[in-house]
Amino acid sequence: MALELFDSKSQTLRAFTPLTAGHVEMYVCGPTVQSAPHLGHLRSALVYDILRRWLMVTDHTVTMVRNVTDIDDKVLVNAGSRDWREFAKEIEQNFDDAYLALNILEPTHKPHATEHIEDMINLTKKLINLGHAYQATDGSANVFFDTASWPNYGELTNQKLENMEGEEDATFGRKSPNDFALFKAHKADEPDTAAWKTPWGLARPGWHIECSAMAKHFLGESFDIHGGGLDLRFPHHENELAQSSAAGDRFANFWLHNALITISGQKMSKSLGNGVSVEDLEKAGSWGAIRYWLLSAQYRSNLDYSESSIRDAQAALDRIVGFLKRTTNTKQIEIDDQYLPSEFAEAMDSDLNVPGALAVIHERVRAGNTAFDSNNQEALKLCVEQVKAMVHVLGLTFAYQERRISEELTNQVNDLIQQRNAAKLAKDFARADQIRLELEEMGVTLKDMKDITMWSFNG
Ligand SMILES: [Zn+2]
Repeated sequence: MALELFDSKSQTLRAFTPLTAGHVEMYVCGPTVQSAPHLGHLRSALVYDILRRWLMVTDHTVTMVRNVTDIDDKVLVNAGSRDWREFAKEIEQNFDDAYLALNILEPTHKPHATEHIEDMINLTKKLINLGHAYQATDGSANVFFDTASWPNYGELTNQKLENMEGEEDATFGRKSPNDFALFKAHKADEPDTAAWKTPWGLARPGWHIECSAMAKHFLGESFDIHGGGLDLRFPHHENELAQSSAAGDRFANFWLHNALITISGQKMSKSLGNGVSVEDLEKAGSWGAIRYWLLSAQYRSNLDYSESSIRDAQAALDRIVGFLKRTTNTKQIEIDDQYLPSEFAEAMDSDLNVPGALAVIHERVRAGNTAFDSNNQEALKLCVEQVKAMVHVLGLTFAYQERRISEELTNQVNDLIQQRNAAKLAKDFARADQIRLELEEMGVTLKDMKDITMWSFNG
């Protein structure tokens, strides 16, 4: 089986074949650096990190572009009285810190919108020349994409122009409320540093044109995969596609959209005040557990955050790490991809079914623990190599180095020890043995003292 991905433009599962054999080019919409990262940002970055890692394991080289939108209405507003550039840098650092902590690979290119204004001007000029964009009818430096001139507008999200509501604010020299800004005229109350000389006057770019221009700069007129969160599908990605295809580019061959994060079943939103910050996550568990949790739902399913989410993930991760710690030298980790089980590869190939892939890891951990207990060295070695290789593909190897035993796991262990002592008291030795095995599977070693049972996590 080969990789299949759900292309959200055609709304079908398609066999993935790169445009150039053995090489994949990806563009992923990065953050608008307007406020600290939240769970949704982390999930989105991680989904494409996993895709990239899987492509690399399956013998592709990958060029990945993830932009930074460092000029935007909200960047200027949220900077308040501070220099917006300094503010944007600081927020970008928050994102980079979180990406690093989560073990998300650095993109091949990380362009900043402000470094590509010339590319955006050139693309806009081209669209004007082709009759798909116009300078504002009020004579300002606003430039709009002319949606009525582009019959394919709406193709990404399967909408018809006549059914779209457009923006309520149809002023500033816009011909139609559906037309969107390519450049925005400098406003007197905005800093001079946030305006660039353009053929239409002092202006700054609109958000959508930034991605079209940067994608073209690094990946050319066509590339394999465009990714981003479902919340970006419309209007952002629809507009990117319209601009680039109206300028004559083929643009992305596959469109991937990851679903969102809900908080206790509710949409995450500022107005509900239910946002979860990076600090909240760090309090709940290790970064390994945070990564594990973010991977625990397939990327097209919503992922719900509740109070126990990270604790549960930590307990599941502890079972894997506990197994590796007691069976291998985790200081020297050698990985051999040829040990990847075919069930694992099938799950990954099936539109990145990471929950399915995690299930294979746990199954091999159980088999490995059984082999360990029965001293079956050959079976054990195979399981260890398989688990190491799978953990590596999911970018969780760093979790070996982290040790944090969850409160839940501690309670679980204490509970099982009590049950075992009760079984021994009742002379039910079979039951007592069974519990001991269960604990060993969790990576727990017991030491029976005179009147107390000590236990430790194998590390
Ligand atoms: Zn974008």
